[in-house]
This record gives sequence, structure tokens and C-alpha cells, in this order.
Amino acid sequence: MRATLIHGPGDIRVETVPDPVLSTGRDAIVRVVAACVCGSDLWPYRGVTPTREPRRIGHEFVGVAEAVGEQVERVRPGDFVIAPFYVCDGSCANCRNGVSTSCLHGGWWGSADREGGFADGAQGERVRVPLADGTLAVVPGPVADEEVPGLLTLSDVMGTGHHAAVSAGVGPGDAVAVVGDGAVGLCAVIAAKRLGATTIIAMSRHPERQALAREFGATHVVAERGDAGIEAVRELTGGIGADRVLECVGTKESMDQAIRSARPGGMVGYVGVPNGGPELPVRRLFETNVGVNGGVAPVRGYIEELLPDVRSGAIRPGLVFDLELPLEEAAEAYAAMDERRAVKVLLRP
Ligand SMILES: [Zn+2]
Repeated sequence: MRATLIHGPGDIRVETVPDPVLSTGRDAIVRVVAACVCGSDLWPYRGVTPTREPRRIGHEFVGVAEAVGEQVERVRPGDFVIAPFYVCDGSCANCRNGVSTSCLHGGWWGSADREGGFADGAQGERVRVPLADGTLAVVPGPVADEEVPGLLTLSDVMGTGHHAAVSAGVGPGDAVAVVGDGAVGLCAVIAAKRLGATTIIAMSRHPERQALAREFGATHVVAERGDAGIEAVRELTGGIGADRVLECVGTKESMDQAIRSARPGGMVGYVGVPNGGPELPVRRLFETNVGVNGGVAPVRGYIEELLPDVRSGAIRPGLVFDLELPLEEAAEAYAAMDERRAVKVLLRP
């Protein structure tokens, strides 16, 4: 089959790789209907994180189960499934505590599983899914093609934006500021509105992303950053800062922006993958009673909650995909996102 590999910075290739095979009895083979490129895929693409040898890449996909191991009970061949960006059993103590990203038996796409098999990267024609009953969410009934982008966001970005909002404790009537206008930040706007926020401030400098943020429910856009951005947030929130701030970037600057945009007693929900050394200013947090909560989003646990709203069209996170390419053009997908010509690229095998 064909699948995407990263060979080094800026070097993405679609190559022929071995077809996946069932090997544990608890796994499934999924034919990928759609995959996509994540902002975090750009870290190795840009050389920020090293690529020591060519490896499979991609961790977001939806597809149709083609075959399942004999011990798999929930997933049947022919089911349309959503995979979160990691493998989990759904039954260990950490999964039951809602932290399936810390599954005691879990793993990551594009690497060996814990039973001697291989979990394929998502940017390919097929994926062997370990622990299929825990990992995969089954979408009931027939799935229309136009539903695919929205469903694909439940693999990562919509659930991650939701996790930022949940971690920050967003509730009815809140004033929320969102730092970051990538796909996760835009989904965080959706999540904030869905949870009842009435003032939603999207911090964005890009006209197209500002427009999408407004379509998703942002009531205000702040283009300034640093002190000017913080001042603008204060002006929109009665002079005190936002009740909840959703940090969706992961840099020192964005975390600083988020913490300083929160009102005294407010809460920051952070989901940006930390890069560039953000550290918490404990003295400032102490003086202001601002809290910080969040981390890598356990999106598997959010799929069933968010799925009805995606299917009904009550929320439309699929709009974050502004470019669709065939899998064979994965290299161009990375380039388009790296150069910020696209918010998020959907790949079709
Ligand atoms: Zn688990």
C-alpha cells in the first residue's frame, strides 16, 4: 500500500510499504477514507524535533473497518470509525479516569505497539489499529461524504479545542479569550460557544482566520499581541481580563499571553504542544489566583459527546479544512501548512 514517510526536515515522501496484517486478535485493519496534517506534524518537518531515520507519519484519520481480530467485539467490518490521535484500551485505570492519553497499554501511530505489532501512520491507505475496541469510535449508520471533514476533526483538533475549554472550566456567560488561530484555536472557539460562553475573543492577525473564528462564534477579534493584546482583552472584559483563556499554541509567548490575559481568579486551559520552553510564572499565578490546567487532550473520551453536534450540523468544525489533496500530494500538503497557505489540509487516499 501507499503511505507517507518523513525522511528529514522538509522531506515528505509517499512510498510503497507493506500491507498491514492482523496479528493480535484485538486489532483491526482500517481503510483510510480521510487523513490530515496536524500542526504538530510540522515540528519534525521544520526540524524543530529531529528525524533520526525515515518513519511513518500522521495521526488523524477516519475510515472503514475492513477486518477485525477474533477478540474484537465493538467494531465490525464495514463500520465507519474515527480514530483518536493515539491508541488506548479504554479499560485501564487511566482510561477510566478520563486520561486515555496515558493509557497503561496505549501507544502512538507510526510506531511499534506493545505486542510486537506495528500501528501504521495515519497518512496512508490502511492502518493496523491495535486495541481496536478501545481505540476506535464507531459512527452509527451510513456516513455521507460531506460529513467526513467534520468527523475527521474528532480525531484531534475538535476534541483538543474542547479539552482546552473543559480544562479552563468554560461555562454559561463566561468571557473567553482564545490564544492561537490554527485549527485547534478555531475549534476552541466552537467549544467555548458550545459550552455557553457569551463573550469570545479570538486572538488572530490573519483575515481569513478571523472570519472563520467569527463564523464559529467569536464575538470579538484582537489582532494585537503582547502588552497591546492584553490591554485589548481587558478593554473587552470590563477592565479585568477574561474569565477563561484557551491557550492553543504552545510557545513561551503564547502561554505568557494567555496567563496575562486572564482576570484575577481566572483559569487558563492549555493544549498547545509545548515548544520553545514555556514555564509557569508561579509568583504571578500566586498573586493573581490565576490557575493553569490542561495538557495533551484525551480526545477519545470526547468523541461520543461531540459526535451528535457534528452530525446534526450544530457545530461545523470541518470548515477548518481549507485545502484537500490526494494522498500522493502529501508533500504539498505539508508545504502549504508550513507556509501558512492553508489552515489544515485533508488528504484522501
Ligand atoms: Zn487504558
